[in-house]
Amino acid sequence: MRVLLIGNGGREHALAWKLSASPRVTALYAWPGNPGTELVAENVGTNVMDFEKICQFVREKNVELVVIGPEDPLAEGLTDRIVAMKVRCFGPSRDAAQLEADKWFAKELMRHQAVPTAEARLFTDPSAAEEFVRMRNTPCVIKASGLAKGKGVTICYRTADAIATLDAMMKQKTFGAAGERVVIEEMLQGPEVSVLAFVDRKSIYLMETAQDHKPVDDGNTGPMTGGMGAYSPTPVVTEAMIRQIERDVFVPVLDGLMRDGIEYTGVLYAGLMITSAGPKVLEFNCRFGDPETQPLMMRLQSDLCEIMVAVCDGRLDSLNLKWDARPAVSVVASSRGYPGEYAMGVPITGIDKADAMADVKVFHSGTAMKDGRLVTDGGRVLAVTALGADMREAQKRAYRAMELIHFDGMHYRTDIGHQALK
Ligand code: AMP
Repeated sequence: MRVLLIGNGGREHALAWKLSASPRVTALYAWPGNPGTELVAENVGTNVMDFEKICQFVREKNVELVVIGPEDPLAEGLTDRIVAMKVRCFGPSRDAAQLEADKWFAKELMRHQAVPTAEARLFTDPSAAEEFVRMRNTPCVIKASGLAKGKGVTICYRTADAIATLDAMMKQKTFGAAGERVVIEEMLQGPEVSVLAFVDRKSIYLMETAQDHKPVDDGNTGPMTGGMGAYSPTPVVTEAMIRQIERDVFVPVLDGLMRDGIEYTGVLYAGLMITSAGPKVLEFNCRFGDPETQPLMMRLQSDLCEIMVAVCDGRLDSLNLKWDARPAVSVVASSRGYPGEYAMGVPITGIDKADAMADVKVFHSGTAMKDGRLVTDGGRVLAVTALGADMREAQKRAYRAMELIHFDGMHYRTDIGHQALK
């Protein structure tokens, strides 16, 4: 099978690595990929939003499966374009991708389907939003309704912080059009968990659980990032809770979409908080998470290509997926300054040594080749991922591997996986 993977982050390196291990895959292209995907696929193309060129490539190379990694091309309807060419596409349609691309769309659907989530209101007028937070005068969470690369959420403990956040999002437009509509939510408390599911038109398969770490610094402090590390599984979630999440979240949301004539295909990701009143949804993503994909792909033993084809063909229920029982921990190394401004083009050393360790895999995110050298090329640079007999060993191994890698201004959290050990 000839496969084209869209995207260039750590998630895509992990997906490419897993796809390349499939005996079914005869050709694997990454559009545009990164130096990591180059090791297992052929990097082609440049821009993930250049749908004309992508479609042309699919036709010319007789691509049989397109896998879309990032949210932007999904939200803009790349799947619809590929499916119209009668080619399989792993990823939801533009209509279905609204679950992530429009937080208010997701909220209204959840409210309609009685899915447990934080109380929320939508604002388009900055003064009305400001009046609301002043009147409430309790901690709240402010979210840009549109896509903001995972950074459009601010936890506001004080009313003054909430007002400053509204000012930045709605007046100074720090997230551009994504922040023109703002969702203000009640603040929930509790441990977090990400539950990802493969979804086709008939069935839902909940994957092993995983946990992301969004703030840039240890102890969940500092600004939100795309994600600084992840581990899988999450001990806080019991099997009974998983079934509850399937029944109370996934089934009603997918039913609600179906009722509106929207069929969902691909990965649906629910970010949840386990509150004292049970699991509540924080957000939906319409694709694999980055960096949750890295530990999940380390643990997945089944053939990813076979799964993706089954999802596209509506045969997910015929598969029996296998996972490594061992936990995995993935630690992201970022450039100093991220998620603000940071330098690029800084030489990176030591990846080969780290990769040579048993049960360790280094996934590239923001890297590039320049004059024959590997250099940094983004905020999140790479994710060191390790399996271990238990969480402690996986964590130790990931950090030992990380110590072998170096670049100027390298930053990583030292507490990824700590929560799971408590
Ligand atoms: P999101 O992108 O919506 O998942 O938000 C990013 C992070 O913000 C989450 O992983 C949570 O840590 C936090 N968060 C989002 N919504 C809430 C909420 N209603 N209450 C408390 N924390 C939240």
